[in-house]
Amino acid sequence: MPRQVLVIGAGVTGLSCAIRLQEAGCIVTILAKDFPAPFPTIDPLAQINYTSPWGGAHNRWVVPSPSGENAREHAFALATFSRMRALAESEPSVGITFMKGIEYLEAPPAEYTSLTPHRAAELQLPGFRLLGKEEFPDDKITWGCEYDTWSLNPMVYCSFLLGRFTFRGGQIRKRELKDIKEVFALPLGELGFEAGRIDAVVNASGYGFGGDPNMFITKGQTCLVANECDVTVTRQNADGSWNFSVPRGFNGGTIIGGTKDVDDWNTKPSIEIREKLLAGFRATYPKILGEAGEYRVLADIVGRRPTRKGGPRIEGEVVSGGGFVMHAYGLGGRGYELSWGVAEEVVKGVDGHLKGHPKGRVASETVAKCHL
Ligand SMILES: Cc1cc2nc3c(=O)[nH]c(=O)nc-3n(C[C@H](O)[C@H](O)[C@H](O)COP(=O)(O)OP(=O)(O)OC[C@H]3O[C@@H](n4cnc5c(N)ncnc54)[C@H](O)[C@@H]3O)c2cc1C
Repeated sequence: MPRQVLVIGAGVTGLSCAIRLQEAGCIVTILAKDFPAPFPTIDPLAQINYTSPWGGAHNRWVVPSPSGENAREHAFALATFSRMRALAESEPSVGITFMKGIEYLEAPPAEYTSLTPHRAAELQLPGFRLLGKEEFPDDKITWGCEYDTWSLNPMVYCSFLLGRFTFRGGQIRKRELKDIKEVFALPLGELGFEAGRIDAVVNASGYGFGGDPNMFITKGQTCLVANECDVTVTRQNADGSWNFSVPRGFNGGTIIGGTKDVDDWNTKPSIEIREKLLAGFRATYPKILGEAGEYRVLADIVGRRPTRKGGPRIEGEVVSGGGFVMHAYGLGGRGYELSWGVAEEVVKGVDGHLKGHPKGRVASETVAKCHL
């Protein structure tokens, strides 16, 4: 009898987990308040807590520290990169574009300055090259590199995932839950499951359900412009501010970003911030203006990155009443770039639980052999 799994959430995390669980042989239903739709139809205020539409979204290789910080996330990013490559090659309409990524830093921390070509090869960073000083945009930049990466149009991509999921027989239910435990009280027939049982629930709700003291939001303001950009450029300034471009492609324009404001719940974009972001990026990468010599602004965007102290929560829990929940939330500013790695971990966690591990945790050598 196939496993029956309910995924809560239809952002990039829930959709990726749902597809991986299907591939592992499960019957899957997605329950969520918000689902992918064309980007212009997503309501900036009513759906501000649905983060996936507001993401860039590109992949930046975040270098793990020598002490191993970020190592788990780096493994997730590598797994995601491979899957994005396969999708881009096989599905022309998926919304993903492969391109060069450029990093410029004014005050690079040790993990960057120690990033030699040898270390980059150890980390499997594709197409890595250190930039020469003559390639820096100005003399405030003291370190730079380029690598191969991908960038995508979020709602084209998420709609593609949703289409693939339903085409393969996945069911969806548009509902809002008050508490995660509520799912175990829902009529099972209504969820599309047979034989009266849910084997596991995946909590891909972005922010969680409010009971995790480590969760907070990081507000991001960006500006969507019609100008095309053929690379994704990220500049980290000495004062902690950022300038970056995220080409969306597929008629989605380019995101010029962006701010990272911890615990800032303000929903209104600031015109001063928009002007600062556009000017900062133009100074770093003048080619963005193209032949017209100016920006064409389409929209100001405010989003809330669901951030978690200590990193994303990817672990299993048996809740009161005995139901099993595999948590996959708190992806912060990296939900897209970690998505397929997280989905893989979720499949392993569900499998581990069903094989008798209460927290879904299994030793890594066992995990490699697990098949649902
Ligand atoms: C400005 C900005 C730029 C970003 N740039 C990038 C980038 O370049 N690269 C990158 O990888 N990431 C980027 N991100 C981060 C990325 O967008 C997020 O990490 C990602 O979208 C989180 O996805 P998620 O599926 O976990 O959560 P969400 O997209 O928030 O989805 C949560 C889902 O859970 C559902 N849900 C929540 N609560 C309930 C409930 N009570 N009942 C029913 N359903 C519920 C929602 O309806 C939704 O379907 C950026 C974010 C911002 C704001």
